[in-house]
Amino acid sequence: MTIQPPATGCRDVPVLKERGQREVFCGLTGIIWLHRKMQDAFFLVVGSRTCAHLLQSAAGVMIFAEPRFGTAILEEKDLAGLADANTELDREVARLLSRRPDIRQLFLVGSCPSEVIKLDLHRAAERLSALHAPHVRVLNFTGSGIETTFTQGEDACLAAMVPALAPTQARELLLVGALPDVVEDQALALLSAMGIGPVRCLPSRRADDAPAVGPNTVFALTQPFLGSTHEALTRRGARHIPAPFPFGEEGTTLWLRAVAKEFGVSDATFDAVTAAPRARAIKAIASQADTLNGKTLFMFPDSQLEPPLARFLTRECGMVALEVGTPYLHRDILGPDLDLLAKGPVISEGQDVDRQLDRARAARPDLTVCGLGLANPLEAEGLTTKWAIELVFTPVHFYEQAGDLAALFARPLRRRALLNASKL
Ligand code: SF4
Repeated sequence: MTIQPPATGCRDVPVLKERGQREVFCGLTGIIWLHRKMQDAFFLVVGSRTCAHLLQSAAGVMIFAEPRFGTAILEEKDLAGLADANTELDREVARLLSRRPDIRQLFLVGSCPSEVIKLDLHRAAERLSALHAPHVRVLNFTGSGIETTFTQGEDACLAAMVPALAPTQARELLLVGALPDVVEDQALALLSAMGIGPVRCLPSRRADDAPAVGPNTVFALTQPFLGSTHEALTRRGARHIPAPFPFGEEGTTLWLRAVAKEFGVSDATFDAVTAAPRARAIKAIASQADTLNGKTLFMFPDSQLEPPLARFLTRECGMVALEVGTPYLHRDILGPDLDLLAKGPVISEGQDVDRQLDRARAARPDLTVCGLGLANPLEAEGLTTKWAIELVFTPVHFYEQAGDLAALFARPLRRRALLNASKL
């Protein structure tokens, strides 16, 4: 296998740093995919009716007999400091846990309102953990929209779990990031076929399967937005395996290759295990790439998946990136993807939405990847858009999803072509 990097990648190019108004969802959004993944966890948002409304509308398409998230509403008297929010929180948690003995992990999730009134959810989690241990572990993280973007909710949640993981001296591989079960199973099957193991996952599907961590743990990230979790694991002595992210055939192969190298897997074994799924991925991408080839791409900063996706769309689908925006640029994490992204697009970090809209309007890209709030107005102006949030709600990692990933970007272009044709 030979992968040709570009003559000059984007790792060291100057970055346009912007600090202005931003158009993104808040970190509470992550609860929508985290609660599906962690089957005995409950996410209790301590927030306002706005927070409850966001969660309900984001999760509105799903119907559960017993949902695994809820909102403890802070009323005006709480916000005015007229009631003891801690007493009420303790009462609500006791009520919830007595009604739901299936809950093994409870996350108290902070919000803008709980931060404004400086409700100390860390202390609340410690207090409630002591009350409800050992059956339930109570942890806290924040999903507040102040200065955050929506994928940071998952990062904050996983980072909060790391200090509570048991210590170990075992040499183990840890996969970090909440993947849909079917995708996680595919990754585990490929690693197992190469003889790599034991492999643990963070988050685990159930509290009893939580991984341990220590100086002989090596970890591979499956999502590029896990900067705080990366830091927390490193503090526990674990070592990161840097690699491009497993999007597309090339990204998946390089990600697997980095892990295989760490575990001394031979080239022959690696090729034998990956040859068939690689061929399937190449074929599936090719069936979408005709639509994408030569089309220009402008990415607003939203999901933090932008740099690896730009690498995939330019190198495997033939797109031409004009601007690749990302809310945060963690070079330790994104360096291998930036190495492969050919120099040329503006790399921007952070957002000043009006200035960025001006650049997008001037560039008139064939495809704009952005948040929901920007997509409709840009569509009305004749630009073709893709909602960034779909990238975290849809299975897109590893070989078997590579064709679907390309299709997510090809579909809006096909739709626009049909609309234009119908106007003729
Ligand atoms: Fe809105 Fe903040 Fe609640 Fe998110 S956490 S829904 S930004 S109030």
